[in-house]
Amino acid sequence: MIKNKLFRFFIFLIVLVLLSVFLNSQFAFFKRTAPQILVSDTIYTNLKTPLIVRVKDNSSPIKNVKITLRKDNDNTSIVLADEKNIDKTDINLQITLPKLAYQEKTKFYILDIQANNSNLFNFLMPNTAKKQMVVVIDEVSPAVKILSSSYQIEKGGAASVVFQANDENLDKVFIQTNTGKIFKVQPFIKEGYYAALVAWNVKDENFNASIIAQDKAGNISKQALKYFLLNRNYRVSTINLTDTFLNGKIKTLSKQYDQNDSNFTHFENFKFVNETLRLANEELIYKITSQIDEEKIENFDLNLFLPLKNSQKVADFADHRFYSYNGQAVSSSYHMGIDLASTAKAPIISNNKAKVVFAEENGIYGLSAILYHGFGIYTLYSHCSSLNVSQGDKIEAQSVIAKTGVSGLALGDHLHFGVLIQGIETRPEQWQDRKWIENSITKVLDKGKKIILNEDK
Ligand SMILES: [Zn+2]
Repeated sequence: MIKNKLFRFFIFLIVLVLLSVFLNSQFAFFKRTAPQILVSDTIYTNLKTPLIVRVKDNSSPIKNVKITLRKDNDNTSIVLADEKNIDKTDINLQITLPKLAYQEKTKFYILDIQANNSNLFNFLMPNTAKKQMVVVIDEVSPAVKILSSSYQIEKGGAASVVFQANDENLDKVFIQTNTGKIFKVQPFIKEGYYAALVAWNVKDENFNASIIAQDKAGNISKQALKYFLLNRNYRVSTINLTDTFLNGKIKTLSKQYDQNDSNFTHFENFKFVNETLRLANEELIYKITSQIDEEKIENFDLNLFLPLKNSQKVADFADHRFYSYNGQAVSSSYHMGIDLASTAKAPIISNNKAKVVFAEENGIYGLSAILYHGFGIYTLYSHCSSLNVSQGDKIEAQSVIAKTGVSGLALGDHLHFGVLIQGIETRPEQWQDRKWIENSITKVLDKGKKIILNEDK
């Protein structure tokens, strides 16, 4: 009798185990899945904010989570969290590391995380997930030191800097201005050293900029660039719009780029071309010229940019133009480059080697080429009648890249020439001045290089 009962119970157990195994192997719902512990393998912390440990389970509620902290090569551990009967499928646990940890001057800890769920069908074997993560404690901010820099920056002009940024866990380094513009920096000579060109946007009244270095634990250092600020006044012009102009180029461009222009008045056509279309064209130029590679710079030299032989300047950089028609103010814009004119269809030369990053039509700028010369420097050539280059070409110094013309918003045959630093238009004459290039770039890089290499000895 007793034997029989025991036997039946034994059979019952076997059936139950087989059923459990069968269900687990056949149906997703019953499948034996452990919770997921969603944390990275390594985390950097400055102990100012708690660590977040996320545990998720797609099949059944999470039951227990236990988190312990230990030193590497040490078996004694501290329990940081021991949550029981959680009964949720997705939780975020905030873990505060003991301050004591840092006082011990230990830089690495191991966090052991263990979680299990309450899947009824696995009562014989709990579904347990385990994960180990390395916690790196770093409360030291990056060390930033300026090694050399331009003496001054002119409104509408460029300047350079060479600096050192050191941190065991450095994450990012960049330069940010008072208006929020971010200039990327490039590795210079060897690890831990950087160089950059920055520019004072002529449309901004003031300029200041800081090097920002941030490590993986979130510690931030800020070091201001100390340039002497040289204000410069730019021309303000008033231009009376003529019917010939409005019925000619303006109407053509408005028709070409705006489908809804049929009901436009003269004014609306002009506003569309001078404001809406200009903005779109300049946004494209900004997008193309604000990207830079972060290749290491070893040497940098530049020839003067003299794109058009025997030419005359016919329009100034940053000329603030106010347009009126029969005495009524219509629109305004900035002329962000210089206009150079010689003979019609004159050859345009790039005095510096470059990569062609743009070679096509661009609205009011007409047929245009944009070249990248390295170190964040781009040049723009607009209103061309033809281009000798295609996007992606690599050209040598002194190459003829295009011919001047009247494409886009140009009345007479001329070249619109611009020099941009990471998307910011600068006064082209600076780049046609040997002394300025030497003082503002070449000497700054040379001095920085000397300091960096002497520090080796
Ligand atoms: Zn122009």
